[in-house]
Amino acid sequence: METGILDGKSLSKQIKEEIAREVADWVGQGNRRPHLAAVLVGQDGASRTYVDHKVKSCAQVGFESTLIERPADIGQADLLEIVAQLNDDPAIDGFIVQLPLPAHIDDQAVIEAVDPAKDVDGFHPSNMGNLALGLPGFVPATPAGIMTMLERSGVETEGKHAVVIGRSSIVGTPMSLLLSRSGSPGNCTVTLCHSRTQDLAAHCSRADILVAAVGRPGMVKADMVKEGAVVIDVGITRVEDPTAKRGFRLKGDVDYADVAPKCRWITPVPGGVGPMTIVSLLNNTLEAARRSADQA
Ligand code: NAD
Repeated sequence: METGILDGKSLSKQIKEEIAREVADWVGQGNRRPHLAAVLVGQDGASRTYVDHKVKSCAQVGFESTLIERPADIGQADLLEIVAQLNDDPAIDGFIVQLPLPAHIDDQAVIEAVDPAKDVDGFHPSNMGNLALGLPGFVPATPAGIMTMLERSGVETEGKHAVVIGRSSIVGTPMSLLLSRSGSPGNCTVTLCHSRTQDLAAHCSRADILVAAVGRPGMVKADMVKEGAVVIDVGITRVEDPTAKRGFRLKGDVDYADVAPKCRWITPVPGGVGPMTIVSLLNNTLEAARRSADQA
């Protein structure tokens, strides 16, 4: 069996070109360019990198973007005021507040303050509720990107046993809902594993599709993976590496060298799930712009 690499980098490039064509058509029909705003609080290096990628990707597809930066000691009321202004600004189609926020800010209060119609991260309870009920709404970008990757790569999901490791509200839980929902891709039988799961290896080794979203570098080893499985590695952890230019390397949750030979398909880190996440955010923003034009 040959191992196929699910190359998120090249797939995302192709999908961005498709989005750019859709934007050109949209603008050609007399609409204004979709506009994404991103709020970045503090100086966390990883958060800055993610936001920079998002802003750069907006330019690549012909969106407007606005980056709002505030220091780590911003008060919660001031941050909520920024959210309220973005909610009210008719020139902004969608926005994100990059997580994690500093400890003195209640993430959930900020998430709940975002207008669900502009919540292109899909974190608002109303969008999460729609996802759970199978109703239209914004789907969190990382699991949505994984579904797109499975679909575009022709990975069969129907009737398969999917195991998701991690139950966060931004990755693991929505991933389990998407894989189990009726549709294609979808129709999986899903096992959701987490920090209190007993005998994780036994669950994983029964997976046709294994999604690791934990944040523990290299935790998934070959003896936890079934021969011929599809392995999706969501984890991104910065691991110190003095030989690397930036002093660190990105490592996934899967021990790639150990696991890849057993897989039918596997995602690399970097260049797998990460770029697909950004594509989903762009798709959500385009969708928000279309909906807002429909209502104008
Ligand atoms: P999180 O910390 O919110 O959740 C981690 C989950 O892992 C928890 O639900 C916990 O129950 C589970 N867990 C912890 N230890 C475990 C163990 N020993 N066995 C089984 N489960 C265990 O993290 P998150 O926000 O869901 O992110 C997970 C990883 O994915 C991180 O590395 C993050 O950087 C990465 N991530 C990547 C992208 C991307 O675009 N590629 C997007 C979001 C998150």
